[in-house]
Amino acid sequence: MNKRLDWIQEEINALKEGGLYNRIRTLGSPQGAWLIVDGKRVLNFCSNNYLGLANHPKLVEAAKEALQKFGVGPGAVRSIAGTMELHLELEKRMAKFKGVEAAITFQSGFSANLAAIPALVGKEDVLFTDELNHASIIDGCRLSGARIVKYAHASAADLDRVITENSGTYRRGLTITDGVFSMDGDLAPLDEIYEITNKHEVMLMVDDAHGEGVVGRGGRGIVDHFGLHGKVDVEVGTFSKAFGVMGGVVAGNANIIDWLRQRGRPFLFSSAATPADVAACIAAVDLLESSTELVDHLWDNAKYFKAIMKEMGFDTGHSTTPITPIMLGEAPLAQQFSHEMFEESVFAMPLGFPTVPKGKARIRVMISAAHSKSDLDQGLEAFSKVGRKLGVIE
Ligand SMILES: *Cc1c(COP(=O)(O)O)cnc(C)c1O
Repeated sequence: MNKRLDWIQEEINALKEGGLYNRIRTLGSPQGAWLIVDGKRVLNFCSNNYLGLANHPKLVEAAKEALQKFGVGPGAVRSIAGTMELHLELEKRMAKFKGVEAAITFQSGFSANLAAIPALVGKEDVLFTDELNHASIIDGCRLSGARIVKYAHASAADLDRVITENSGTYRRGLTITDGVFSMDGDLAPLDEIYEITNKHEVMLMVDDAHGEGVVGRGGRGIVDHFGLHGKVDVEVGTFSKAFGVMGGVVAGNANIIDWLRQRGRPFLFSSAATPADVAACIAAVDLLESSTELVDHLWDNAKYFKAIMKEMGFDTGHSTTPITPIMLGEAPLAQQFSHEMFEESVFAMPLGFPTVPKGKARIRVMISAAHSKSDLDQGLEAFSKVGRKLGVIE
C-alpha cells in the first residue's frame, strides 16, 4: 500500500465516525412516486422530479425519435460541430417560455454557472453572493478570480450594506442569488434585491434551478413570480429538476447570450448535450406550455403535506415551496431517522455537513406532482411513527 495515500482512509474513517459518510442508495427502477431502491419497493420522497416528467411517456417518446433521427452523441463541442438544430430549437423555446430575448443551453445547471460567472466578471471585479448559495455558484465565483463578498442570507439590507462598503473598489459588480434555496425551500426576496442592485448599477443574476417548473405562472420561474421581466440580467436554470431530464440554461438579453457563446468555457470546451436529452427537454417545455395542471397539482400536494407535518409537531423550517426540510439537528439522528423511514418503505435521505451547516442536519422531503394523496398519507403515517419512536415529536 502507498503510505502517501493513507490520509484518504483516515478522512473516510472520520466521516463515518461523524455520521457524515454518504451511503449511496441504488435505484433499480425509473423515477416516479415509487421506486425500487436497493431491491426494495419504497415511496420516493427525495427526487427533484417535481412534475413527474423524468419518466413521462411524451418525453421518452421525444427522446426515442431524436435517437433515431440524430443518433446518440453530439460528436463535438457546441462551438465546433456539436450544435444541432435541436439545440437551437430548445434555446428558442426556453427564451419564449422565460419571456426573454435569448437563451443558451449547457450540459448541466452546474456547468451553466461555471460558464456564466467567469464570463461576466474577472480579477478587477467583485461578486456579491448570498451566504447560502449553491455549490456550483460558489465554484463559478472562485473560477472567475473576482473578489467574493458574501451577504447575509436573503437580506437585501445586508446586500445594500456590502455594496455600499465596497463602492469604488471594483470595475464591475455582479450580485448572485439562488432563486429557491434548495436546502431550506425559501425564496430570495428578488424584488428587494433588484431595487438594491439597480440603485448601485450592479449586474444581477439568479440561479432558479429549483424554481423553474415550480414557481411563477405555469412554472416560469422566480422572475415571473415577482414580475421582474427585463430587470434581472441573467437567469440560470436546469433541465434536471422539474423538467425531468438533464442540462442547464442561461436566459437573458441577446448580447449576454451572444457573449456566453463566445466565452462560456463549458460551451467551448465540453461536448454538447445529447440529442435525446435535448429533444426530451423540448417535450417538457411543450407540456409546461400546454397546461398548468402538473404545477398546480405539485402545489396542492406540497401544501397538504406541509400542513400535516406541522400539525404533528415537526419543525419544517421556513420553506415556502414544495421543498420540505424536516429539521433534526445532529447528523447521526438524521441518518437514523432516514434508516427507520426506509424500514417503513419510505425513501427520504438525510442531509448533513457540508450540504447543510453543522448542527442543522435534516431530512429533506421533495414533494412531487407524481404523488397521489394516498402516497402522501402513507408517508405522513411513517413520519408520525418514526418521529414518536425517536422522540422528535410527542
Ligand atoms: C441542482 C442545482 C444546480 C445544478 O443543476 P444540475 O443541472 O443538476 O447540474 C445548480 N444550481 C442550483 C441552485 C441547484 O439547486
